[in-house]
Amino acid sequence: MDKALDRALVWLRRDLRTDDHAALHHALRAARQVWCAFVFDTALLDPLPRQDRRVEFIRDSLVGVDAALRALAASHGVDGAGLLLRHGVAEHEITVLARQLGASAVYASHDDDPAALARDARARGLLADAGVVLHTVKDHVVFERDEVLTQGGNGYTVFTPYKKAWLQKVDHFYLSAYPVARHAAALAPLPAGSSGVPALADIGFEPSNLHQLRLPSGPAGGAELLDDFIERLDRYADTRDFPAVKGPSYLGPHLRFGTLSVRRLARLAHEQMVGGSRGAEVWLSELIWRDFYHQILHHHPHVVGHAFKPVFERVRWEHGRHADALFAAWCEGRTGVPLVDAAMHQLSQSGYMHNRLRMVAASFLCKHLGLDWRRGEAWFALHLNDFDLAANNGGWQWAASTGTDAQPWFRIFNPVTQSQKFDAQGRFIRRYLPQLARLPDELIHAPWRARPVDLAAAGVRLGHDYPEPVVDLDEARQRTLARYAVVKGAGG
Ligand code: FAD
Repeated sequence: MDKALDRALVWLRRDLRTDDHAALHHALRAARQVWCAFVFDTALLDPLPRQDRRVEFIRDSLVGVDAALRALAASHGVDGAGLLLRHGVAEHEITVLARQLGASAVYASHDDDPAALARDARARGLLADAGVVLHTVKDHVVFERDEVLTQGGNGYTVFTPYKKAWLQKVDHFYLSAYPVARHAAALAPLPAGSSGVPALADIGFEPSNLHQLRLPSGPAGGAELLDDFIERLDRYADTRDFPAVKGPSYLGPHLRFGTLSVRRLARLAHEQMVGGSRGAEVWLSELIWRDFYHQILHHHPHVVGHAFKPVFERVRWEHGRHADALFAAWCEGRTGVPLVDAAMHQLSQSGYMHNRLRMVAASFLCKHLGLDWRRGEAWFALHLNDFDLAANNGGWQWAASTGTDAQPWFRIFNPVTQSQKFDAQGRFIRRYLPQLARLPDELIHAPWRARPVDLAAAGVRLGHDYPEPVVDLDEARQRTLARYAVVKGAGG
C-alpha cells in the first residue's frame, strides 16, 4: 500500500496499550516509519504527592507497552523498537521529539478534559510551528462528542433516552477493533541512546502500596482482571451493590488509562447481552454511563467547578472552622457513621471505593455534613485510582442533586438504612473498622444507638475506640431540606 507519510509519531496519553488502538492504527497505515512516545508531564505530576498509585500504575503499564511494541515489531522482522519516554512539559517534549525524529505528523487520542484540550491546543500550535500536523481521533469512549444527539440536534442531558439512542446506534462498526498487529511492520527501531521506562525515583516519585493491592497494571493486568470478571459477569446485576461481595469488575483504572480498549469491553458485554445475560446488560449500561458523562463534559464544560443546573449555585454550604473539622473527619473516616467511615478507609488504603459507597459517602458529605460537593469531588480526584474528571464530576453532581438527571434534592440517603441493606452482616464494615468487629450485626450500622452494656460486651468505648457521630442524622436531614429549599420553584 502506498503511504502518504514517511515518518509519524504516536503520542500516548490515556491509551496505554498496543491492541485495538485507533491512533496507532491510523499512524501505522499512514506512515512508513512510526514511533510511539509517552511523556511524564510535569504539569500534571509536579502538584501530586510523591506517593501516587496512579503514577506507579502508569509507569508499570508503560513497561508492558514498551515490551509489546518491541514484540510486535520483532514479529515483522524489525529489531530494536519500543516506547520512547520523556519527562517534562508534554507539549514541548512532543514537539522536540517530533522534530528530532523528522516526523511530519503526530497522532493522539482525543482527551476531552478541559485542561487536556488546552494542552492539545498548545501542542497543535507548537507542532504547526515546526511543520508537524497533530491528528487526534476518538479512542477512549464508544461514542463521543456529537455522535449521539437528540432529534433536535442537542446533546442528551437525561440518561435513559441517551442510553436508548446509544443502543440504537451501536453496531458492529462502532464496536470493532482498530487492528494494529497486521500493520506493525511500520514500527521503527528506537534512535540510538534511547533509554527504557524510567524507575519511579527517576521521575521523582516513591513506591506506593500499589503492589500490595490486587490491581495488576498494564494491558496484561487488565486482561487478567477481565478474565476473572467474565466468570462473574452474569451475576453482576445481583452482586454489584454489595461492597463485601466481589461483584464489580475493578476495571476502572484500566478504562481510565486505556490499558484495555473500551470497544473490546463493550463488544463483549453487548454480545452477552444479546445472548440473554442480564448481568451483561446492566454492566453495558455502566459503560454507557461512562460515555454519557463524557459527552456531558463535552457539551457542558461549565460542570467543572459549577453546578450543571445553575440554580443550585444558590445553595449555601457550611464553611468556617467547624465545616473544616467536619470535612477532615469525613476524609479521615471518623464521622462516627460506620459505613461512611469504612468507605473512606477503603479509599485511603486502596484508592478504590465501591460504587454504592461512593454514592453513600458523597451524599453524606453534601446532605448530612452540609459541605460543598466540590470539596468531596477534589478529595476523590486526589485518591481514586480510576479518577476520571467526567465520571467523578457526574457522580458528585448526581449525589449533590446539582447535576444532569440527578437524585432529586429532597431525596436523602439514610446511611444507616443503606448500611443495613447493602452490608447487612457488617462484613465490609468489619474489614475496615476492626474496632467494631465484635458488635452484633444489628448494632454495627449505628453503634450510637447501642446500649452501653452491648457496647461494653463488644469492647467498644464510643468516643475512644470509635467516634460518636459528628452530626445528628435527623437534624442534619432537616437542615439539608432547608438549605436546598432555595431552589424550590426555580427549576430545581
Ligand atoms: P464496574 O461496576 O465494573 O463498571 C465498569 C466500568 O463502567 C467502570 O470501571 C467505569 O469505567 C464505568 N462506570 C461504572 N459506573 C459508572 C458511572 N456511574 N459513571 C461513569 N462510569 C461508570 N468512575 C470512574 O471511572 N472514575 C471516577 O472518578 C468516578 N468517580 C465517582 C464519584 C462518585 C461520587 C460516584 C457516585 C461514582 C463515581 N464513579 C467514577 C462511577 C463508579 O463508581 C465507578 O466507575 C466504579 O465504582 C468503578 O469500579 P469498577 O471498575 O469495579 O466498576
